[in-house]
Amino acid sequence: MNAVIPLRVEAGATGCGQAPVLKERGQREVFCGLTGIVWLHRKIQDAFFLVVGSRTCAHLIQSAAGVMIFAEPRFATAIIDERDLAGLADAQDELDRVVARLLERRKDIRTLFLVGSCPSEVIKLDLSRAAQRLSGRHLPQVRVLNYSGSGIETTFTQGEDACLASLVPTLPLPAAAAPASLVVVGALADVIEDQFMRLFVELGLPGVQFLPARRSDAMPAVGANTRYILAQPFLADTARALESRGARRIAAPFPLGAEGTAAWFAAVAAAFGIAASTVEQVTAAPRARAAAALARVRPALAGKRIFFFPDSQLEVPLARFLQRELGMQLVEVGTPYLHREHLAEELALLPADTMLSEGQHVEKQLDRCRAQQPDIVVCGLGLANPLEAEGMTTKWAIELVFSPIHGFEQAGDLAELFARPLRRRALLTTPMAA
Ligand code: SF4
Repeated sequence: MNAVIPLRVEAGATGCGQAPVLKERGQREVFCGLTGIVWLHRKIQDAFFLVVGSRTCAHLIQSAAGVMIFAEPRFATAIIDERDLAGLADAQDELDRVVARLLERRKDIRTLFLVGSCPSEVIKLDLSRAAQRLSGRHLPQVRVLNYSGSGIETTFTQGEDACLASLVPTLPLPAAAAPASLVVVGALADVIEDQFMRLFVELGLPGVQFLPARRSDAMPAVGANTRYILAQPFLADTARALESRGARRIAAPFPLGAEGTAAWFAAVAAAFGIAASTVEQVTAAPRARAAAALARVRPALAGKRIFFFPDSQLEVPLARFLQRELGMQLVEVGTPYLHREHLAEELALLPADTMLSEGQHVEKQLDRCRAQQPDIVVCGLGLANPLEAEGMTTKWAIELVFSPIHGFEQAGDLAELFARPLRRRALLTTPMAA
């Protein structure tokens, strides 16, 4: 029989919150923020993402999102060509014409995001001015917003942060006498949102809202009486924008793995004065299912050494989950940015001697990785193939963002994402019987 995951972590844990962090700057190997369109266009079902970029940007989005020849896509690229780059054409006029044609053809669009790219930033195309002008023309049917998905000084999950931050000023204000409300912030797969909503209802919180919502007219109201909780660790700008409206963050570990999810719900319950015994009771069955699922995968992962290259910004919560719930050893936990405030509860749960690194100097980090010879490496696609060719086992960091991994019911699947490459490597290296 499997133990049920406890609701609270051991008191007195200090973890590695005060531990020194290796800060590096140098060449980085990451995708750009345009990648976020892949999951955001599925989430906000009446939004359209118009990248203002080059053919390279178009190829990136097309190949990352898959070709949807059977359906009307909800993303596209307005190509900046040589005439725009040479200043021979008025890019703002051309953009107006493209948007007018698009909205004429696609009456289902309610929010149009103009997404900036490296080329649009290099030619200093002012997309915020364009968004204001086009909103003036197309409201109330369509609101036009803008954000940057460029690869200049970003990592790919910052695309979602920039997108959600652009939505915040447009959110409605709650009614003056409205009771305190809760908003869950961060794009979650619909199936997970539904699971979380069922648990919130059982806890006695039926009015929880999500940012982003599935439809533009269902975005949450946010004001001084709003509490919000992050579902993703890469939403620093969005959090700042919400707080500038008076909303207050509920501090918690992230809902990855059974322990993180239990602590996340417990933090919400505490903020709304719900008894710990109620949380205990409501989450008992899913915690037991998660414990059973994790017990099945644990033998494949316990004792294995894992090395994280900085990529998705999910590295710290994932490291906590893999170390505490599956017994993995953390060789290095690299993250593009270490947001100490948002990650405080996570850092407190990591072993005090965890090797944390922030930023990247890819050559130096590759040297450290090769010297350590970990059992599995979590990294971007650009590093995975060369490392596999050197005999290492890798996990693509981007797959962890594309897959539904949050919550109790997904804890086993999340663990399995790390166990599978190890099993595959074992099969490849096991000599065949004669
Ligand atoms: S935004 Fe920049 S990094 Fe991203 S695909 Fe376009 S050119 Fe490349």
